[in-house]
Formats: sequence, structure tokens, C-alpha cells
Amino acid sequence: MTFRTRFAPSPTGPLHLGHAYSAIIAHDMARAAGGEFLLRMEDTDLQRAKPEWDAAIVEDLTWLGLTWDGPILRQSEHLTQYDAYLDRFEAMGLLYPCSCSRADIRAAVSAPQEGVSHDVYPGTCKQRSMASRKAGDALRLHMDRALAQLQGRTVAFQETGETYKGQHAIDADKALQDIGDVVLSRKGEEIIAYFLASALDDVHQGITHVVRGEDLFDFTPLQVMLLRLLEQPVPVYHHHRLIRDDAGKRLAKRDDARAISKYRSEGATPQDIRRMVGLT
Ligand code: GLU
Repeated sequence: MTFRTRFAPSPTGPLHLGHAYSAIIAHDMARAAGGEFLLRMEDTDLQRAKPEWDAAIVEDLTWLGLTWDGPILRQSEHLTQYDAYLDRFEAMGLLYPCSCSRADIRAAVSAPQEGVSHDVYPGTCKQRSMASRKAGDALRLHMDRALAQLQGRTVAFQETGETYKGQHAIDADKALQDIGDVVLSRKGEEIIAYFLASALDDVHQGITHVVRGEDLFDFTPLQVMLLRLLEQPVPVYHHHRLIRDDAGKRLAKRDDARAISKYRSEGATPQDIRRMVGLT
């Protein structure tokens, strides 16, 4: 099996040291294995993703000396391909329409309810059928039914990153309690949930190893569940450490101070960047 990995930035801001670290690690792992390194723009958030950030990311990666195999995959260019998967979830009886606003959800979960964490949907629209779907409704996953359909099947993934190294099986109780009925599609705003689009494109692109930051580790059980429901192969995951600022906080898009373009304009070399993220 050829080792194939990818770097999958969302073009919603500048490439900073944390992204550079992620891209370099994935690139170097692929090259060391004689495998392939692909570039994918995760631009399904049509409001926040901008072509100018896309172009800037390509420029910074090129400047860093990274090369990728094949053309860049832009998710916005094949949005309709995801519909087939949503249709499959619907045919499996796993979707329901939801008209709750974020404020509705917040109000419902702020009432004391044992065992309901703030991120988990309280189930207000759960009894609705797909036939009652109105324009503008989001589509949610019946997590309980999904888990029931997965019963008896292996739902697990192999992790090779240092912090979480090993085999991880998905725990049904935890999935109900911590993940719950997530939104898989939202008309207009977010056509398909980014974690689903990302997992599906890993399959489409034949990714054998997902190399990415530890901040995404918690999404992995959900992504693996969705892939198994669709009977798709599950890649190996490698979650790497995060690059943090001086206060120990992980770098975010708004950390323009650590943008690669800023270091470039100050005369840094690609080797300097590698040194700054502890890679030499
Ligand atoms: N697009 C995600 C991000 O920029 C990365 C998703 C992934 O690597 O799986 O944070």
C-alpha cells in the first residue's frame, strides 16, 4: 500500500507556524515513505473561505519548498458530490430536519439537564420526519440509530501520533453523550459539515494516513463512525503536537503575528521556519 497523505487547510486566513508545521510533517512523512502528499482546500464555508487566502497558502507552501502530487482539490468545486452520501444516510433512516437556531439550542441546554453537555443537541426536532423538511432546515444525524446500525461491526481506528498512539475503539455511550445528534448539512450556510466533507474526501483521494494536529483528535471517532456507516475504508490517523504561542495557547487563524508571510517579509528562510517549529 502506497503511503498517501494530505494537507487540508481551510482558506479562511493566513498560513501560520502551526499550519506550516502540519504541512511540513505530512510532506516529509510522505517523502520519507516514498509515498504521496496531496493538497486539499477545505473551502465549504462559502462565507469565510476566500480565493485570496487560497492563493496566499499556495504561495507560502511553495516558498517553504513543499511539493504536492496532482492538482489541488477544492471542496467548493464538487459540493454536489456530497449529496449522494447525505441521500444514503437519509435512506438508512439516519437523518431528521432541524429548524433550531443556535440561540434555541443554548436556551434548551442551559436549563439544568443531567448528562447533557453544552455542545450536544437536546433533541427538540428529533421526532420530525424527513417529509416535514422545510427550506432552510439543517439535517441532523440520529446518533442513537447510527450506533444501533453499527452494532456488531468494528468501529475503530489506528493512531500513530505520539500522544494518542494505539488502537481506539469507538465507545457508544461516549458518542451519545459527547457527540450526539450533530448537524451534517445546513442549507446556504454550511452545505455539508466540514468533518464529513473532510472524511469523504480522504476516501476520494485515497488517503492512507491522515496527518493533522491534535486539536482534531476529538473529531476522529465521529469521522470514523460516518465512514463505517457508509462502508468506506478508514485511514490510519497521525495527530501531531500543536505549535503554541509563548503563553502556551495553540495558534489560531487570528494569530497574524505568526503568519508565514510576516516571517518571509522579515527575511526568514524556509530553514528558519523549520527551526522555529522544532524540526531541525
Ligand atoms: N480543514 C481543517 C483545518 O484547517 C483540517 C482538517 C483535517 O486536516 O482533517 O483545520
